[in-house]
Amino acid sequence: MDKNLGAPLFDRVALIGIGLINSSLARIIRRDGLAREITACARTRRTLDKVKELGLADSVTTDPAVAVAKADLVVLGTPLGAYREVTENMASGLEPGCIVTDVGSVKACLERDVAPFLPEGVHLVPGHPIAGTEHSGPEAGFAELFEGRWCVLTPAQGTDGVAVDRVAELWRRCGMTVQMMDGAHHDKVLAITSHVPHLIAYTIVGTATDLEGDLRDEVVKFSAGGFRDFTRIAGSDPTMWRDVFLTNREAVLEMLGRFSEDLVALRRAIRRSEGQLLYDVFDRTREIRRGVIDAGQHIPPKGPKDNGD
Ligand code: NAP
Repeated sequence: MDKNLGAPLFDRVALIGIGLINSSLARIIRRDGLAREITACARTRRTLDKVKELGLADSVTTDPAVAVAKADLVVLGTPLGAYREVTENMASGLEPGCIVTDVGSVKACLERDVAPFLPEGVHLVPGHPIAGTEHSGPEAGFAELFEGRWCVLTPAQGTDGVAVDRVAELWRRCGMTVQMMDGAHHDKVLAITSHVPHLIAYTIVGTATDLEGDLRDEVVKFSAGGFRDFTRIAGSDPTMWRDVFLTNREAVLEMLGRFSEDLVALRRAIRRSEGQLLYDVFDRTREIRRGVIDAGQHIPPKGPKDNGD
């Protein structure tokens, strides 16, 4: 029996979009009794049938306004490109005092796509649990996904403190460490730690796919030489990642500019046979890897493999 049983944090939680992230949250809420009731909302009947089959929610609907009725917590878990439409559609069902949070990989955009459409008295606490895999849909979720990871909350100044504390407590109960951050700062940090690395993976797998004949066939055969890890990342959901790049455009372009300069410098070092320069760069990056290990962020969760998005 889990230690958290018998202490619900919320009465009725509405999960808007129930894929990898929100279904993992649903599994924890269920397992640990963190809410009395869960309502799940998705676009398609197929997803909602799966949710019912897996027992992840008490009720399901395709209508966001119906889903959020009487909810004291709403968690947006759709791709970022759907935020505005979903928020507009659910607004009429929201009641004063309700907390709206989300799990999206970009944060500054909520001020534009969500905040203006919320009724008076509804508290917005944007969030990003930095944990994920390359798999999608409610069947891909698992309760251990968030354990030992960071969750960033980016509430605007003046947000109700109790609302922020309640969202923070939810993620702590999921096994996460919570950090407050400015939304724009979050987007810059994630641009370099997550978004640009995904773009590199998409690029290199694309480049390999475009190679001619023999060379391309050998790519799959010898993929264990580093390419395999890129293919895993490049297997991530295309809709989610399209929206991440379109939503975090400025920060990604800034970090991509820096990355491109450094790549050109390494290319030049190879061309000029500057071994010491190459060694120094690789030696420095090895230190970063050690730092990641020291911080315990290299360990995959107990479930399917993680890529920490
Ligand atoms: P997912 O598995 O692809 O699921 C997305 C869900 O959103 C599905 O239930 C889908 O319903 C629903 N949806 C899509 N468009 C919709 C619309 N227009 N209206 C209503 N519902 C809609 O997604 P995910 O991987 O859990 O990611 C969800 C969010 O978490 C994204 O914003 C992403 O940036 C963030 N995030 C993802 C990861 C990761 O590793 N995947 C990690 C951290 C944060 P249908 O199935 O019916 O289409």
